[in-house]
Amino acid sequence: MTETVAFSKHSTNVFFHILTPCNLSCRHCYINPAQHGNVILPIETITSWLKVFVNKTNHANLILLGGEPTLHPQLSEAVKAARRMGYKSITIDTNGYLFHDILNKINPHDLDFLSFSLDGATPQTNDRIRGKGCFERCTEGIEQAVRRGFHTSLIFTVSRANIHELHLMPPLLKRLGIERFFIQVIGIRGKSAAPDLGTATDGFQTEGLQVDRDVWLSLIPAVAREAAALGITVTYPTVFLKNDDRFECAGLVADNYFIFPNGRVYRCPLCEDYPLHSLEMTDNRLSPTGKINEQDLFSLTIPEGCVMNKLVQSGNLTYGPDGAPEYQIACCLLKEEVIPFLNQMYYNIPII
Ligand code: SF4
Ligand code: SF4
Repeated sequence: MTETVAFSKHSTNVFFHILTPCNLSCRHCYINPAQHGNVILPIETITSWLKVFVNKTNHANLILLGGEPTLHPQLSEAVKAARRMGYKSITIDTNGYLFHDILNKINPHDLDFLSFSLDGATPQTNDRIRGKGCFERCTEGIEQAVRRGFHTSLIFTVSRANIHELHLMPPLLKRLGIERFFIQVIGIRGKSAAPDLGTATDGFQTEGLQVDRDVWLSLIPAVAREAAALGITVTYPTVFLKNDDRFECAGLVADNYFIFPNGRVYRCPLCEDYPLHSLEMTDNRLSPTGKINEQDLFSLTIPEGCVMNKLVQSGNLTYGPDGAPEYQIACCLLKEEVIPFLNQMYYNIPII
């Protein structure tokens, strides 16, 4: 069964970057130190900020990320504090290196999902994007986590550099014991938005990473169904709206917070390369920023759908002979979900 996951008006999703440093240097990393800082937040600040967001609702889902969150020596304390505060779900997004003996410091029952990132089904493709040796370390990390009883998910960021291996992922996920598969689409932000550097010495194309509509629609839903047939729940972004779909901006109809360690809080991930955040943490309090900010963009109506997509990553748009867009681009936070069995337990864990 495939269904579009409507934006939930009754839950809050808190994407908390507790630090920006990382041991890897992935080619498409969206972390932008000039905009997000290079701070490792002290545990006292993390817990203060966690309280601010859990107090907004009884149904807050927390995603702890970085940088690499397991580089934070007190990540396990952050998880325990969030559990005590009553977060509805807690996920850690990791590159798989699992620093600070994190698997032994967290009880699997305190975490809803440990989510790993791989961008290829083979070391050749993954390591070209994420760094030498990364495939082996990440898959070893998954195996250790599954053995210790953690629920695991995996994020695969699709671009023209790795889409040829997406169809190889379902059997790999099954073998590794992954329960949820998040197919993500490359966002043109952070390193991917850097000025064109041409072709790298190893032949990696540093431009033209976006996948076009025909390729996306011919491959992604089919791979999602294959993974679901193996018992894995799959989530992927809608990206291209059909003619009768209604465009909605999550900035207006949903409750998402993307928090960075320099105190910036965004409602839209596509704004994160710019000082357009509409909220900020000051003295451990959440306050609105001055104009102009991302909120001023959310209500703009354009025929292409998402305004920020048109501004920062319009390579996925095509136009007819009359100059009109051939389709609308959905909000980057709108997802499709493929559930293996109708009666299977359904975890509503959001990702960016
Ligand atoms: S693991 Fe994540 S944070 Fe680290 S470089 Fe790669 S994309 Fe960036
Ligand atoms: S991605 Fe586009 S539609 Fe979604 S919140 Fe940002 S501006 Fe709104």
